[in-house]
Amino acid sequence: MNNSSQTDVDAKIASQHETKVAVIGAGIVGLMTALEIQRTGRRVVVIDPGEPGGRQAASYGNAGWISPSAIMPVSVPGLWRQVIVYLMDKSGPFVIRWAYLPRLLPWLLRFLWAGRNWKKVEECAKLRFELSRHSPRDHQNIAAEAGVGHLIEQKGLLSVCRNKSEFLANSFAWNMCRRLGVKITEFDAADLRRLEPNISERYQYGVRIDEGCHCTDLEAYCRAIAELIQERGGEFIRGKATGFEISDGCLKGVNIAGRAVECTQAVVTAGIGSRELAAAVGVRVPLESERGYHVVIAEGGNTITHPIMPSDGKMGITPTRQGLRIAGQVELAGVKASPDWRRAELLRQFVPRVFQAPFESDEAIDRWMGHRPSTPDGLPCIGATRSCRGLFYGFGHGHTGLTQAPATAKLLAALVAGQEPQCDLSAMSVHRF
Ligand SMILES: Cc1cc2nc3c(=O)[nH]c(=O)nc-3n(C[C@H](O)[C@H](O)[C@H](O)COP(=O)(O)OP(=O)(O)OC[C@H]3O[C@@H](n4cnc5c(N)ncnc54)[C@H](O)[C@@H]3O)c2cc1C
Repeated sequence: MNNSSQTDVDAKIASQHETKVAVIGAGIVGLMTALEIQRTGRRVVVIDPGEPGGRQAASYGNAGWISPSAIMPVSVPGLWRQVIVYLMDKSGPFVIRWAYLPRLLPWLLRFLWAGRNWKKVEECAKLRFELSRHSPRDHQNIAAEAGVGHLIEQKGLLSVCRNKSEFLANSFAWNMCRRLGVKITEFDAADLRRLEPNISERYQYGVRIDEGCHCTDLEAYCRAIAELIQERGGEFIRGKATGFEISDGCLKGVNIAGRAVECTQAVVTAGIGSRELAAAVGVRVPLESERGYHVVIAEGGNTITHPIMPSDGKMGITPTRQGLRIAGQVELAGVKASPDWRRAELLRQFVPRVFQAPFESDEAIDRWMGHRPSTPDGLPCIGATRSCRGLFYGFGHGHTGLTQAPATAKLLAALVAGQEPQCDLSAMSVHRF
C-alpha cells in the first residue's frame, strides 16, 4: 500500500470512529447488532431502560432454542380451525383475552391471511431459512468470543410425538427442512428411549434437529455480550428512547427522557417497544405481543440431555444452569395487561406427562412472562426507514428472535455501513404493511 492510500484508509477509520450509532434496545437482537456494527469500525451507544437481556426482555425468558429448522411461520393453512378450538379451551397452549379481541382483530385477520396457502408459507419459510441457517455456528462463535462458549451447547433439539402419524402431520415442514439441507434424525420408540431414557411411554416417536443448539443461561449470555461491547469501547445508557431528532429528513439524535443522544445513525431493535418508536417517525407497523411464559423447576437429578418439545404440549423444555425451564404458551392480550399466572401453571403441570420418573419437587423456582414481538406474516422487519435518513430497524422476530439474531445483526451492520446486504430484504421492509 502506498503512502497516500494508507492515509486514505487512516482517514476513513478515523471518520468511522467519530460516527456514533445508537442501538435502541439491549435484547439479543440489539446486542448482536451493536457488536456487528462495532466490527465495521463505528462507535456504538446502546440505549435501554433495563439491564442487557434483563427480565424486561423476551431474550431473558425464552426457551433458548437455536434451531436451523426454525423456518415455518406460525400461520399455516387451516390454522383458523385450530384457533377456534383453542379459543374454547382455556387450558390449551393458545389463548385470546376476549376483551382484547376488538383491538387484536386487524392483526389476527392479517395473520390468518398470511398463511392462506402453502405457496405463501413456502416463500416465507425460504426467507426465514436465510435468517436461521447459520445460527448455531454463529452463536457458538459469538459466545466463545465473549468468553462464555460453554453457555451454548450443541446436543441437538428433540421433538417427541405420541405416534408416527403426529410426525407425519408435519411432513411439509420436515420435508422442506430436509430439502434445504437441515440435518434431521428420526427415532422409533426404542431408539428414542435409548437416546433419552427418561422420556415417558406416552411418546413413541422422535425427531432430532441434529445441529440445533441451546443456551443454558440467556441472562449470562446477554450480559457477556454487553461486556464485550463495552470492552471494545461501546457505551450503555439507561433510559427509554421516546423519539428522534430529525432535521431535513436526516437523523440528528435519539430522545431519551430529558435529553437527546446525538447521532446520525440509529437502529431500532427494541422488541415489542419498536412499534411505538416506528410510530414516532410515522410508520405504522402491525406488531403484536404474543405473550409467553416460563417456569423453572429444580431438576432433582432427573437430568435430560436434549431440549425437548412434546407434540401435544407446544412448549420447549430446556435444561439450563438454573434448572429445567419450561417455556411456551401464546396469550394475545396486549402489552399492558397483567400476567395471568395460570398460563405458567399449565406449563408446570404438563411436565410430569413428559417424563417417566417424577421430579423430586416440581415447585416453580422461577416464573416469568414476556412479549414475543410478532408481525402477522412471520417475517421480521429489517432495513432502513424511508421517512428518516440514518434510521434503521431490526425487530419483529416473534417466536425465533434468538435464532435469527446473528443473521439480523450482520444484515443491519452492512446496511449501516452503506454496504449491500447479503440477501434481498424487500419482503422484510417495515413499509410492507
Ligand atoms: C416463552 C417464549 C419462548 C421463546 N423461545 C424461543 C426459542 O427457543 N428460540 C428463539 O429463537 N426464540 C424464542 N422466543 C422468541 C425470542 O425470545 C424473541 O424473538 C427475542 O428475544 C426478541 O429479541 P429482541 O432483542 O428483539 O427483543 P427483547 O429481547 O424483548 O429486547 C428488547 C429490548 O428493548 C428494550 N426497549 C423497549 N422499548 C425501548 C425503548 N423505547 N427505548 C429503549 N429500549 C427499549 C427493552 O427494555 C428490551 O430490553 C421465545 C419467546 C418467548 C416469549
